[in-house]
Amino acid sequence: MAKKGARELVALICSFCKSQNYITERNKVNMDTKGKGKLQINKFCKTCRKVTPHKETTKLK
Ligand SMILES: [Zn+2]
Repeated sequence: MAKKGARELVALICSFCKSQNYITERNKVNMDTKGKGKLQINKFCKTCRKVTPHKETTKLK
């Protein structure tokens, strides 16, 4: 059986201060948004101390 290596770790960084606040896993199989731009999620940033848009990045620190 082939093992599915479709999961990808992505970091979520605050779009204001660029702090990496969250790390999440994304399943590539469920992603058909290639070329559509990156996901943006509103999350609480402890550096900004408020909810800010967070962007995905694959560059994990
Ligand atoms: Zn921030």
